[in-house]
Amino acid sequence: MTTEDRSKPHETATRLAHGGRRPREQHGFVNPPVYHGSTVTFPDVDTMLSGRQRYVYGRRGNPTSDGLESLVAELEGAAGAVLAPSGLAAVSVALLSCLTSGDHLLMTDTVYQPTRHFCDKVLTRFGIETTYYDPTVGAGIAALFRPETKAVFTEAPGSQTFEMQDIPAIAGVAAAHGATVLMDNTWATPLFFRPLDHGVDLSIQAGTKYFVGHSDVMLGTVAASPRAWPALKAMHGDLGQCIGPDDAFLALRGMRTLEVRLARHQASALAVADWLAGRPEVARVLHPARPDDPGHAIWKRDFSGSSGLFGFITRPAPLGAVKAMLDGLELFGLGYSWGGFESLAIVADPRKYRTATTWTEPGHLIRLNIGLEDPRDLIADLADGLDRFTAFAEPG
Ligand SMILES: *Cc1c(COP(=O)(O)O)cnc(C)c1O
Repeated sequence: MTTEDRSKPHETATRLAHGGRRPREQHGFVNPPVYHGSTVTFPDVDTMLSGRQRYVYGRRGNPTSDGLESLVAELEGAAGAVLAPSGLAAVSVALLSCLTSGDHLLMTDTVYQPTRHFCDKVLTRFGIETTYYDPTVGAGIAALFRPETKAVFTEAPGSQTFEMQDIPAIAGVAAAHGATVLMDNTWATPLFFRPLDHGVDLSIQAGTKYFVGHSDVMLGTVAASPRAWPALKAMHGDLGQCIGPDDAFLALRGMRTLEVRLARHQASALAVADWLAGRPEVARVLHPARPDDPGHAIWKRDFSGSSGLFGFITRPAPLGAVKAMLDGLELFGLGYSWGGFESLAIVADPRKYRTATTWTEPGHLIRLNIGLEDPRDLIADLADGLDRFTAFAEPG
């Protein structure tokens, strides 16, 4: 039996196990097959002209991509969802679906940096102006609205620095102005925060991260409210976006374990974050699920969990101390993506590109992706790293 056969909605873990597949239509096989194909043929001219055949052309979808699309829409509580070849492609199709020449966009200053680049380099060329705002502005965003403001983009917690945003307050102001609200919700996934339930119109996931979960596929998804869905669907088709069937298959396979993976990422990341907070080399931990975090109250009010990505600030030291720490880590790779089973670290500097806020922390910002390893091994690896940090910062 599939979810569609029942009237009472199932819990999330059950939906992840059963959504997006119809074994009876696939000779009983549990998973949808991988449909490779561009050409789709029709039995006769009448059918061809009628537009009623379910599949008509490879770019417009197949049973494999449909399975993933319907599972995402179900999890997001959306009118519909589209699949994009990367998280950034999902961001761009979502923005292009709700903006046109002459419009004004409000963009959080802590947004994922390539999203910022898209606004500055591409949207400007088409006469769309972007104003960056302080992520903690809340209902104060009303003061930034102009008659031509057509969209507000949010991301919480903020990229690299983990500030929380009051999404319901921002969405309330945007609704009063008839503006579309977008959210990059990659950190929480719809399992820990469902943007559409809080007034967001377009919910974006870099599926590359937790949906796929195994560091082997690039994927983006956008899920839309009924109001935003027709324009999103049209723009997605007009841009010719689609994903390969092997990637759709791997993403579906990843999503079957999304809930159990996230539970482990959450617990391990909190264990590592709490341990780091007690270390003398650490000035501050950036993790909204920790009670001392400035965004904790909003996180607690709106989110039902936290994932495996967080940051910390070292006490001031030469960059060499950070290099000594990170270069010698055994279990943490140095890499920009995240959400996979393996732990990763990066060093980041938000001063380089932020314009509406000022980053004043004197120490180095390190971001960790806590994977599925045993957190005791990760802590031991980081403990050795912090010893190297101190040995460099205070030789002899
Ligand atoms: C990685 C990431 C993206 C972009 O996803 P890609 O699949 O790498 O293009 C967008 N937003 C956030 C928050 C991300 O972490």
